[in-house]
Amino acid sequence: MSIVLSNVNKIYQSGEVTVHALKNTSIEIADKQIVAILGPSGSGKSTLLNVIGGIDRHDEGEITVHDNKLTKMKDKELTEYRRHTLGFIFQQYNLMPTLTVEENVEVGRELSQNPLKMKDTLEKVGMWDKKDKFPYQLSGGEQQRVAIARALIKNPRVLLCDEPTGALDEETGKKILSLLKYVNEAYGTTVCIITHNNGIGEMAHKVVRMKSGEIIEHYYNEKPVDPE
Ligand code: ADP
Ligand code: ADP
Repeated sequence: MSIVLSNVNKIYQSGEVTVHALKNTSIEIADKQIVAILGPSGSGKSTLLNVIGGIDRHDEGEITVHDNKLTKMKDKELTEYRRHTLGFIFQQYNLMPTLTVEENVEVGRELSQNPLKMKDTLEKVGMWDKKDKFPYQLSGGEQQRVAIARALIKNPRVLLCDEPTGALDEETGKKILSLLKYVNEAYGTTVCIITHNNGIGEMAHKVVRMKSGEIIEHYYNEKPVDPE
């Protein structure tokens, strides 16, 4: 198993308001899978991704990601874990506007102990010929390709994607999903994708459905379909 959560609880306290964002959550995700995390807004999807990603601390339970026991880690170890084991992809790309494509991806390369080659990585995502462009000169789909390259160049075991197609039109979104599927197949990267889009569930090996902080359903797809 690449990711194991057992009886994880996460509670947010803001003033008088208490939100039980993850309720006794247990899930196992096998190595080298694509997992779609579905559910309505506020159901706990981002919280789940954030505790797996070591961005948020969980309050109870155990989380293990590729032999990293997050529960026991100090903040510094958690930072190392994020840098070396994980890549993050966000809805809004989060590229540095003053850096070129290549310089943005270089940020990821410098964080890694075992990076892939710059040219290979940019070619894989189809952006080598635009390596000297700035983000504002690119379409949304192209910016997301650069963000994927920045994560991929670290050669991560796990890619955590929060609504990666949320800001893209349907056609461009499908191309990005194809690219994530390719990364999964070519590098054996485990890919966790949060989405509102039920269609993404069809391409995943495993589907996890959340509601009100609970996993209400999870199943394997017999035949994941291609996004295109
Ligand atoms: P989703 O990603 O499915 O939209 P979230 O994980 O973002 O759901 O949120 C789950 C619940 O936790 C929601 O009720 C949300 O308001 C609450 N929540 C998330 N983050 C915080 C936070 N930093 N402080 C307080 N409440 C939060
Ligand atoms: P993709 O499918 O990769 O998102 P598009 O079909 O949206 O690409 O865009 C085609 C071309 O138009 C791209 O090569 C890009 O350079 C250019 N382009 C699209 N949107 C913008 C934009 N908002 N600003 C500048 N160039 C753009």
